[in-house]
Amino acid sequence: MTGLARDGGTPVRSTPLPTVMDSTGRRFGDEEVKAAERVLRSGMLSATWGTEVPALEQEFADVLGAGHAVACSSGTAALHLAVAAVDPAPGDEIITTPISDMGTVFPILMQNAVPVFADVDPVTGNLDPAAVAAAVTPRTRAVMAVHLFGKPAPIVELRELCDQHGLVLVEDCAQAYLAPAGDTLAGRIGHIGCFSLQQTKHISAGDGGLVVTDDAALARRMRLFADKGWPRATNERDYLFLALNYRMTELAGAVTRAQLTRLAGVVADRRTAAARATAGIAELAGVTAPPDSGDHVYWQYPLILDPAVACDLREWAAALTAEGIPANGGYLTSPLYGAPALRDRVTYGHSHFPLQDVEYPVGLCPTAEDLIDHRLLVLPWNENYTTEDVDDIVTAIRKVHSVLSKEAG
Ligand SMILES: *Cc1c(COP(=O)(O)O)cnc(C)c1O
Repeated sequence: MTGLARDGGTPVRSTPLPTVMDSTGRRFGDEEVKAAERVLRSGMLSATWGTEVPALEQEFADVLGAGHAVACSSGTAALHLAVAAVDPAPGDEIITTPISDMGTVFPILMQNAVPVFADVDPVTGNLDPAAVAAAVTPRTRAVMAVHLFGKPAPIVELRELCDQHGLVLVEDCAQAYLAPAGDTLAGRIGHIGCFSLQQTKHISAGDGGLVVTDDAALARRMRLFADKGWPRATNERDYLFLALNYRMTELAGAVTRAQLTRLAGVVADRRTAAARATAGIAELAGVTAPPDSGDHVYWQYPLILDPAVACDLREWAAALTAEGIPANGGYLTSPLYGAPALRDRVTYGHSHFPLQDVEYPVGLCPTAEDLIDHRLLVLPWNENYTTEDVDDIVTAIRKVHSVLSKEAG
């Protein structure tokens, strides 16, 4: 084997891996083309009078085994629908995780509630139920759990905790379609499950979102919130409460219906590729593969590196990327509470509202900070990876490990 590519050696791979950024790593076929054409030729692109989005809502509810599904314009919108259904008073608190997309957190602030961050598990990066329990106060209204990278959070325990305290449990399933959880699927143990159809998720319409719930009142409130509080079903020209327009279009709805038929295959193929990778790195010292009890759906493939092996996580990621295997050290720049919007409380004018009495200091969630700064190495994952692709990924990890862990020792 030659030296590391970053030092002038031959890269493990010179052709790009399949990627969600183009057709190599997306399954858009004739059905999606027909769906888009069907909508365009119909002349009706709005779901207010169309048929595709209502059909999608029924089909998605059926896939999840849920009583109700409501479509909307993004995963962030889906989470905003959920927070709006919780209906916090200004200053009420919602407990969530510091490791996620900001789409989990900003909807809390948009409803004038305060995000409270609980620390995470050191291997999965998912919320630690003990930390959530310690964060509950008389002002807590809900918990928003994220199934990070496709590995279900301890959602059964979180539901028990929420039931004890009378809290709403929202599941952010943007990265976890069809992930087994408890005796059902992620999204079905909490009161509300939220999904994203953004470009990089398991299935996509470019942008889009879906929520599921069994609760008819929550479903009605979310449907109204996505449509300016306007109860069209009863034909009243009225606006019942403060709300926005988060409607999905018929184009997105029709494409998503076609994507939905591919979802199980996407998950199965991502799992097959991941199992091969995990077997290939099983005995590497200081490298922990994602724990999988048949429940990981691999939105991405997260490794935990012992700092003794990766003295510099970002250097490791750069070395892998130079080998032709894109890798992301840390996933985020900082925990979400370290982003300027939260750290400096840049909200409404100069008010800092509703965070005027809140601070998010460094050290708030030490395990999350340690993961992001030192341990969490994330590889993009894809349903179209071949066995050769996965073998290249394994070869590159082993190569970087052999050089950089020696340097560390
Ligand atoms: C992608 C994502 C979101 C936001 O979804 P958008 O459709 O991009 O708004 C929220 N939470 C998580 C965990 C995500 O991965």
